[in-house]
Amino acid sequence: MTVSFEALGLSPELLKAVEDLGFEEPSPIQILAIPSLLAGRDAVGQAQTGTGKTAAFGLPILEKAVPGRSVQALVLCPTRELAIQVSEELSKLAVHKRAISILPIYGGQPIERQIRALAKGAQVVVGTPGRVIDHLQRGTLRLSDAGIVVLDEADEMLDMGFREDIEAILEQSPADCQKVLFSATMPQPIRELSKRFLREPEMLTIAHKMLTVPAIEQVYYEVRPYQKMDALCRVLDSQGFRKALVFCATKRSVDEVSIHLQQRGYQADGLHGDLNQTQRDRVMSRFRTDGLEILVATDVAARGIDVDDVDAVINYDIPHDIEGYVHRIGRTGRAGREGKAFTFVTVREQYKIREIIRYTKARITQGQLPTLRDVHNIRTSKLLEEVRRTLAEGSLDRWRVLVEEFQNEQFPDGDVPARDISAALLKLLMQRDFGNQDNANEIDALAVEPRRPAGDADGRPKSKVPPRLRRPENESMCRLQVNVGHTHDVTPRALVGAITGESGIPGRSIGAIDIQKHCSVVEVSAELADHVLAVLNKGVFISGVKVSATKDEGSDGPRPRKPFKPGPRRGHPGGKFGKKPRGATSGRKAYEESH
Ligand code: AMP
Repeated sequence: MTVSFEALGLSPELLKAVEDLGFEEPSPIQILAIPSLLAGRDAVGQAQTGTGKTAAFGLPILEKAVPGRSVQALVLCPTRELAIQVSEELSKLAVHKRAISILPIYGGQPIERQIRALAKGAQVVVGTPGRVIDHLQRGTLRLSDAGIVVLDEADEMLDMGFREDIEAILEQSPADCQKVLFSATMPQPIRELSKRFLREPEMLTIAHKMLTVPAIEQVYYEVRPYQKMDALCRVLDSQGFRKALVFCATKRSVDEVSIHLQQRGYQADGLHGDLNQTQRDRVMSRFRTDGLEILVATDVAARGIDVDDVDAVINYDIPHDIEGYVHRIGRTGRAGREGKAFTFVTVREQYKIREIIRYTKARITQGQLPTLRDVHNIRTSKLLEEVRRTLAEGSLDRWRVLVEEFQNEQFPDGDVPARDISAALLKLLMQRDFGNQDNANEIDALAVEPRRPAGDADGRPKSKVPPRLRRPENESMCRLQVNVGHTHDVTPRALVGAITGESGIPGRSIGAIDIQKHCSVVEVSAELADHVLAVLNKGVFISGVKVSATKDEGSDGPRPRKPFKPGPRRGHPGGKFGKKPRGATSGRKAYEESH
């Protein structure tokens, strides 16, 4: 059964924020927690980071928050990094709520600044226990009007020695104030805390169903969030799948990943709930008929996918729960075919993969991401295998004549042997096969290294992969200016979709896209530019605006591609998810001193 955010009883302002963030459906902990917290009940949630727990308590807090000077909600977090992250997430969720401000307060920041901010009025305060106590003692923070106190990562806070502070804060909060505790584990001290301060708390725990995991090869890679795009390309390049399904957590990330893949020359497209039926049908029919190599989708969109010959599932974002993982990987290895599943795991998500392994008993091995050299070696082997097969097939007379003519005409002295011409051709093919010039140059350097055979023990490649059709790096591009920009809420996906859909040109013929305030500049292959212009000016609508497109004069010709900008980094070693002084007896003191 699927549950929508609407069904959870949230107001239009919050639904809009959730939509802006690209969340398609609530996570399991959100489905459990939001109605219970909205009803005003005390609750104990067993949920870890990465399950969507911040929004699980954040949305009910914001639903109830009203403009005014008093603090209405307090969230306690173990570290300043978490306090900042939670406060940022709440601010994003509160973006359409009028006059609601979220204030993080933590040790290490000048207290005067926080005193001034508190005096100005904040409706939601997110703080570390030590600093919150400090403000309570100074009288700069008052909880007399607080309607809810949330303890986030309660087990961590107790481990870090914050027990007395937490108890003092709970004692100072109003007796009828709602109290909610989130904890990854439920050791005795947490149960005691809950018994002492919470009134008949509802237990929010996700029950796991019995699951049958398909018997396919499963690998996970540890990556940093900003490395994911590169990691994806390496996995795709080294394996050369004919049909791969890439899963992302949000609609936004589907758009980003599919557009970056297109810009890097892959036959890729995205599928999510914002597309209308015609657009979805178009994407699906391309995927089914081999017109697309890579389909990037959210879980919701992927539910409608019924394709049997998917070679691989790649979890670009790890799913929220175990059931999600099993459903996703069940998309490959169907009908007796071979299938593979790859999952990218960031430092903060490592516990999730451990949980998946524990519950499913599946063999999910940790892999090393292919290096550029590995990718090169595998590609070279595949290319040479194709050369070998082409030689075996024969019928080369026409081409032999061409080589001889070329050799005689260009190098009449006979100083360039056919071997050098073959080498130049191989170099050309390899460079075309690699998406960007940096790689191509690196590959050039790598090419002098001895090649390690890829494939089976005899060096035979495991599968034949059709060469990918990429846009040559030095292809001449033309910049087109289109009269829709940020003010029309246009997205790169809408532009690419309209241009490819209307003109029939492939996604790889579109280069960088620069969305400006009132217009956008789109690079398209120079030889297709006139055709695209003619089609666009025939009465096409993008974002509800009738398109008027012109050549961005004076800027024809090859241009550097816009480099891929990784998304904002969340979580980093030493930050929220870095090593914590777990179990240290003087944990709190050590923590406060180090901050
Ligand atoms: P948290 O467990 O609160 O640290 O959330 C982990 C990540 O999941 C954050 O980046 C959230 O923005 C994101 N997230 C939260 N809820 C959802 C949802 N329903 N769908 C997709 N992403 C979500």
